[in-house]
Amino acid sequence: MLITICGGGNAAHTLTGLLASREDLSVRVHVPYGDEAERWQQGVRRGGGITVHTPSGVRSGCPQLISRHAREAVAGSQLVILALPAFAHESTLQAITPYLEPGAWVGALPARGGFDLGARAALAACAAQVTLFGLQTLPWACRIQHYGRQAVVLGAKEQVDIAAWPAAHAPLIAARLEELLGVRLNPIADFLSLTLADTGQIIHPGIMYGLFHAWDGQPYPEQLLFYQGVDSTIADILQRMSAEVQDLRSGLEKRYPGLDLSPVRPLSEWMLRSYPAAIADASTLQSQFATNRSYAGLHTPMRPVVGGFAPDFQARYLAEDIPFGLLVTRGIAAVAGVATPVIDSVLGWAQARLGKEYLVAGRLEGADLAATRAPQRYAITSLGQLMSIYNHPQQPIGGTRDGN
Ligand code: NAD
Repeated sequence: MLITICGGGNAAHTLTGLLASREDLSVRVHVPYGDEAERWQQGVRRGGGITVHTPSGVRSGCPQLISRHAREAVAGSQLVILALPAFAHESTLQAITPYLEPGAWVGALPARGGFDLGARAALAACAAQVTLFGLQTLPWACRIQHYGRQAVVLGAKEQVDIAAWPAAHAPLIAARLEELLGVRLNPIADFLSLTLADTGQIIHPGIMYGLFHAWDGQPYPEQLLFYQGVDSTIADILQRMSAEVQDLRSGLEKRYPGLDLSPVRPLSEWMLRSYPAAIADASTLQSQFATNRSYAGLHTPMRPVVGGFAPDFQARYLAEDIPFGLLVTRGIAAVAGVATPVIDSVLGWAQARLGKEYLVAGRLEGADLAATRAPQRYAITSLGQLMSIYNHPQQPIGGTRDGN
């Protein structure tokens, strides 16, 4: 099988090493960003390939090709995996579209929110010739150790949900990817579930908000731990954000009998399901973060400044998880007429820190909406419109409520 991995960061390194270690697969890497193709080629020359240290052993393999050029890397591939932050999905999809093989599987690890909406827009007419898929999260917590040569898997999730478009293709893709990735994959009904089930949209902005919404601008003496920095106040914020997503889930399920959003799990349930063996103390949401071996030692995005460290508000915990996560869910809540006051507080704070304008007086009509995957960006402004995309065209009980 010929596989192309798009991306040059932690996930792409890990995936490339794991897949290229198998003799039955040919792996190509597409890295158009900066000088990454050259750096990766140099690394591979020095190390002979990519070595991945995992909790269950060391795997290594050499990609067949590393290229900044989409045609070289993508033409002929049966499986194209975007293993990069969601803000790079659109440009990557636009670059590879002309070279996609009809029938190819094209997906993202992880999808984050609204991947299907963004991918269908970016691929345009080509979308009908491929199958899209997305994973609810990356199966691993992983980091590059030496660029182009070595990565480490700090922890692996027990199971991950996967959605596809067309939805009926999900079981087949799940079975093949499960075998390739060595992680249990559960096919779920559709991308609507996957979007709402994105826990990164809660965890990353929620912890950033909890850590820094009252920050006085003074430098910190050292870089803060991220997940282990979750105290009971931050856990409460996460819990309340999760509860609002659950309100949205149950609101939609009530209006659309037959709609199954069961993969949209409360945060604590998702933690216990994803990391059953890695969590030492499962008694509270706070302890699930603080005692999770897979999260141990991971730092908060911060940058060195005079006198210490300052939060990095441009890092992906906001730059990815707001426009391609929480805002997508907020856009769905808007068309469903479900209130999300805690999420709104986090969004209002985060957009100011990012220097962006998404929400204006509670409405999704800010100047930067075009660089998000909120449904409103794709002119989806009613619940009926949204649900017809996911094959729930029947009139909802109680009628639709338009909104943005
Ligand atoms: P990363 O920060 O290592 O990825 C950075 C890479 O993305 C860059 O090296 C570059 O190759 C690519 N990139 C960035 N901006 C780009 C642009 N404008 N155009 C083209 N390419 C660009 O991210 P990662 O750790 O590999 O994570 C990938 C995805 O997995 C993200 O969605 C992340 O939230 C998710 N995730 C990661 C982990 C983890 O442990 N690494 C865990 C859970 C989820």
